[in-house]
Amino acid sequence: MTISFDLAENSVLAQEHYNRIAREQMRPIARDADTHEHELPESWVEWYWLHGRDNVGDVNAPSDGFIQVCIQAEELCWGDAGLYLRTPTAALGGSAVAAAGTQEQRERFLTPFRGSGHPIWGAMAITEAEAGSDAAAIQTTAERDGDDYVINGQKIFCTAGEGASQVEGGFVVVWATVDKSAGRGGIKSFVVPAGTPGMELVGLEKKLGIRASDTATLRFENCRVPAANLLGSAEVKKRDSKTGDKGFKGAMATFDASRPIVAAMAVGVGRASLDFLLEELDRQGVSVRFDAPPSELTAIERDVIEMIGELQAARLLTWRAASMMNKGKPNNLEASMAKAKAGLAVTRITQKAVEILGPPAYSKKLMVEKWMRDAKINDIFEGTQQINQLIVARRILDYSSSMLR
Ligand SMILES: Cc1cc2nc3c(=O)[nH]c(=O)nc-3n(C[C@H](O)[C@H](O)[C@H](O)COP(=O)(O)OP(=O)(O)OC[C@H]3O[C@@H](n4cnc5c(N)ncnc54)[C@H](O)[C@@H]3O)c2cc1C
Repeated sequence: MTISFDLAENSVLAQEHYNRIAREQMRPIARDADTHEHELPESWVEWYWLHGRDNVGDVNAPSDGFIQVCIQAEELCWGDAGLYLRTPTAALGGSAVAAAGTQEQRERFLTPFRGSGHPIWGAMAITEAEAGSDAAAIQTTAERDGDDYVINGQKIFCTAGEGASQVEGGFVVVWATVDKSAGRGGIKSFVVPAGTPGMELVGLEKKLGIRASDTATLRFENCRVPAANLLGSAEVKKRDSKTGDKGFKGAMATFDASRPIVAAMAVGVGRASLDFLLEELDRQGVSVRFDAPPSELTAIERDVIEMIGELQAARLLTWRAASMMNKGKPNNLEASMAKAKAGLAVTRITQKAVEILGPPAYSKKLMVEKWMRDAKINDIFEGTQQINQLIVARRILDYSSSMLR
């Protein structure tokens, strides 16, 4: 078996392309977008909609598939993670439609993202006040009424929830139970198009980091959607059925695709800090001797070498999880490993950069304080550090979720 770590020519072109976007379009406005939380970064949104979606390289040339998606996330988050999450795309909502929807649903909901005359967003709303890590505990209901479902409940911390719920052409994928007595088997996801009566934007979170990103609370009050907007099968398997939570597992499979992307985002933020740290050390005449014997390394050299190692390990785990998707292999274990490693690595790297650079790095004059704030979310959303470690343990030990909680 040969293992190659070389990227396809198209991926190298993509790396350069997205790095240029990050450098020229994102970095110059990143501080301003962070300061003006809840204001739409119009210049970025309009620019990305008009120019950022151009094909890169030869579309018929060999490609690294999903690894290229991770490269895009890393480069754009090296530019700015908050703006990346504000980018008009189908985002997590799109992943849910792609993972659980029919071909007809994919065409109906995702085509506008190619043809709309104005920027649009997709989002996914799972989390509720009493249901986060334990997604099976959601209380939002969807009741069948003729040819429709009527949704009632409240969702919190919905990334891109403002754009997706308010701007025509966008949509929110909402998780709701159609039958509480069926437990996980009753949980289904529904596409709620922007502007649907009964879907209300209740508020926006004021956050520590990724402040350019809109994180919404959405209320659903007798919100009516066609039954054709239910993603996947409407069939409810009861709790005691052997295949009782198959539909739920299908919905959870969305995370196997999204976790490598979040891991790549983390690598991007970590690399931003590390690049700046190395430039700054170089400017101050401090060089890192990678070939010095361990007993002779300075504390800073040891820290920097460890940071570089952490970052590279996180990236390799991320690309492994992505390459398994390219091959159609189950990657639940590898996606969680990558997400857990990258979430921890970015938190440590960005904090270390602030520590090594000293008080100026705590000031808003430098971006490192912002990267430290932007880092932590990668260890929280799409499954916290603890939840991803739990998944890794379950997969390695071959335990079910009820055996290891
Ligand atoms: C900025 C932001 C954006 C977000 N975007 C979205 C979004 O777009 N869509 C969406 O649906 N949600 C979103 N979320 C929600 C996010 O996914 C949840 O916050 C996360 O899953 C944790 O859930 P929780 O907040 O309920 O915490 P809890 O589940 O209450 O967890 C609290 C703590 O307990 C730990 N814990 C919980 N269960 C266990 C266990 N079994 N073993 C060990 N430790 C455990 C957790 O790791 C955590 O440290 C977002 C959150 C934030 C902050």
